[in-house]
This record gives sequence, structure tokens and C-alpha cells, in this order.
Amino acid sequence: MSQKKSAPTPDASPSVKLSPRGAARLNDGHVWVYRSDIAVAKEVPPGSLVHVTDVRGKFLGTALYSSSSQIAIRMISREEVRDLPALVAERIRAAIAYRKGIVSGTDAYRVVFSEGDFLPGLIVDRYHDFLSVQILTQAMDAEPVRAAIVNTLTEEFKPAGIVERVDSRIRELEQLPPRPSGLIHGEKSSTVVEMNGVRLHFDGLEGQKTGAFLDQRENYAAAARYAHGDALDVFCYQGGFALHFAAMENAAKCSSVTGVDSSRPALEVAEKNAVLNGREVEWIEANAFDLLKDYSVAKRQYDTIVLDPPAFAKTKRDLDKALGGYKELNLRAMKMLRPGGVLITCSCSYHVSAVDFMGMVADAARDAHKSLRVLENRSQAKDHPMLINVPESGYLKCLIVT
Ligand code: SAH
Repeated sequence: MSQKKSAPTPDASPSVKLSPRGAARLNDGHVWVYRSDIAVAKEVPPGSLVHVTDVRGKFLGTALYSSSSQIAIRMISREEVRDLPALVAERIRAAIAYRKGIVSGTDAYRVVFSEGDFLPGLIVDRYHDFLSVQILTQAMDAEPVRAAIVNTLTEEFKPAGIVERVDSRIRELEQLPPRPSGLIHGEKSSTVVEMNGVRLHFDGLEGQKTGAFLDQRENYAAAARYAHGDALDVFCYQGGFALHFAAMENAAKCSSVTGVDSSRPALEVAEKNAVLNGREVEWIEANAFDLLKDYSVAKRQYDTIVLDPPAFAKTKRDLDKALGGYKELNLRAMKMLRPGGVLITCSCSYHVSAVDFMGMVADAARDAHKSLRVLENRSQAKDHPMLINVPESGYLKCLIVT
């Protein structure tokens, strides 16, 4: 039988040409390219898989394209990719396998951390028997990709529920149609998790963010090793640090534990958590800046203080102001520390680098006339992997000083 010689299969993916600066960024190992570094992107549909080349047409890899984000290109592979749903399923399985070696002593952890697991725009958290999913890019929002995500997670975990947490601001920025947060599989959206021997309520449809307290999991255990005497957890949210200090093996070392937050709903969950663990913690609803000011004027003293404020620097432009805010808190806390006291100080703004943060703590110590030693210089838990060539994937700083 004669067969017609077929032409080579045309490339199914649209292609994008990068400027020399964009190509250099990828050659440096980064995975993002900004819109301003794209030389040619003709008629590329939102959220499509794109073939990325330099201006001369040299192939650089395959990326997910966003038609609206400043980050127009997120690399997904240095090779040719044709079937995105299949690749997403494979990468989710790899992320699950990776956690087997690095996560222990908890049934609550991040299963997929976006770029850190080579799945840009996808976050998955496990809370005991249910999962929480966040979809942050046009490509991950496409129906076949969503189906691959849900099917793979269902096969791997057999969860009692999968909740989708929607950040409406991000959907707007990505020009995606609005969607409600809610269950996308099964029925369960709240549970009790256990980490480091501490039990915590978690409601997947309430609360300020998905993954709250997961990134600090290893820092809770580290901080609890040094906690002693009177302990104050400032910006305590649902009580992560405070409950670890009050927990069984630390109860003997900590004579009192107090948690402070401005959110009443967060403190209500914190109290439920204390009851669940049979521990006593004093919760104070207050503005942390005012409370620290009042307490330092009143010369209150503590042996252990945690500072874990929300991200003060939302953009690079806020950096100086943010560092000023962090410094004020740290300076006051240092003045309130008894001799031999321990300060656990954190920042989750990625615009504040580890170097900036350490510098700010050093300035505060100098102004407080304290010679502090670094006990530990920590970051986010290992289930939030940071890519060495993508500094933006590392955001949490946690310094323990005495
Ligand atoms: N340490 C917590 C996470 C803290 S998140 C944990 O381990 O889970 C930041 C917290 O700061 C939130 O709970 C928020 O309600 C609180 N917050 C924000 N601004 C505040 C302010 N000015 N005073 C007190 N709390 C504040």
C-alpha cells in the first residue's frame, strides 16, 4: 500500500520570542519572564502552553503563558511539552513522593508549592483527611488541567473533601471569571490536624489564608526548644507558637503563655485549640503596636517573645516603611526581654530579603543596647521548597536570638 509522505507534525503550541534580556534570565536559571522582556508574542491565547525561543529562534523551553500578568511566562520545562494535563499529574505525583522524605510528625503540610514543585500557579495543602487547592494562573485554571489536578489528588489521597480557596484579587489580575470558594470534591472541609504533638482545628472555608501555620511548622518546634518562663506570642493568629509553648513537654518550662492578635475570629479558634489540647493560654485581642508600646512603658518583662507580623512589604516600594515597622516591633520586644530571654522574630514578606531582615534586627539590637546571639537563622518549612535560582520562592525569615 502506498502511503503519502506526511509533512513533519506542525508544532501545536504557539510560540513566544524573548528579548536578549528575557533569554538571559532563563539562562541564569530563573523561571519567570516579564512582559517587558518579550520580543514577539502573536495571537497567543490566554493560559496556553507556549514554545519559547530567543530572538534568533533558538528553543529555550516550554512555558505557561498569561495574557494579563506582568509575569507573562512561567517556564514549565526546558523540553518540548505537548500534554499539559499529563505533565501536571506527573509533577503532582513527584511532589507527593518528595514529601515522603522531608515531612514527618504531621498530617498537615503543603503538598504542592507552585514553582517550588515545578507547577507554577498551583498550591495544594493537606489537612489530615481533606485537601485545599489554590489555582493562581490562567493555565492552571483551564478545565482539562483542573480535571487532572482533582483526579490525581483523589487517586493519591482518597480525600474526604477537596476545597478550592479562591483569591478573587488574583482571579481579577489574571482576567479569569469570578468563582466562589468551596468544595470541588467530596464533602469534608474542616478537620483536626496534628503537628509536633499539638492538635489544631482547621476549617478550609474560613480563616485568612490557606496554608496558615504550615510554613512555620518546623519553626514552632525549633522555638519550643528554647521557650521558657513567661512567653508572649505576638501576632498569634490561631495560636501556633503559643500552643507549642503550652504543649505537654514545654508546659514545665513556660510559666505562662499569652497570645496577642487583632482578629477576634482567629483568637476564638486559638481558644478552641487550647481546649482541644487541654492547655491554658491567655488570649488578648489588641493592636500589637499599641500593646507593645503600653507594655514597654509599664516595664513588663518576658522570657520568650515571638513576633510574626503579616507581610508589611507588599511591593518593593514599601520596603523602607516595612523595615521601619519591623524595627519598631523588634526594638520594643528586645527591651521587654529578661536577661537570658529568647526572641523569635519572623517576616513573611519576600520583598524583605534575609539580609535586609538580619540588618533590621541588628539595628534594633544596637538601639536597644543589647548584645544578642543568633541561636538559629531559619526559613520556611521544607514542604515549601525554595528554588535556589528563584529567590522569590523563599519568603519566610525566622531568626531566633538570645
Ligand atoms: N503566628 C501565626 C501567623 C501570624 S499571621 C501562626 O503561626 O499561625 C499575622 C497575624 O497578624 C494575623 O493573625 C492577623 O490577624 C494579625 N494582625 C495583623 N495586624 C495586626 C495588628 N496590628 N495587631 C495585632 N495583630 C495583627
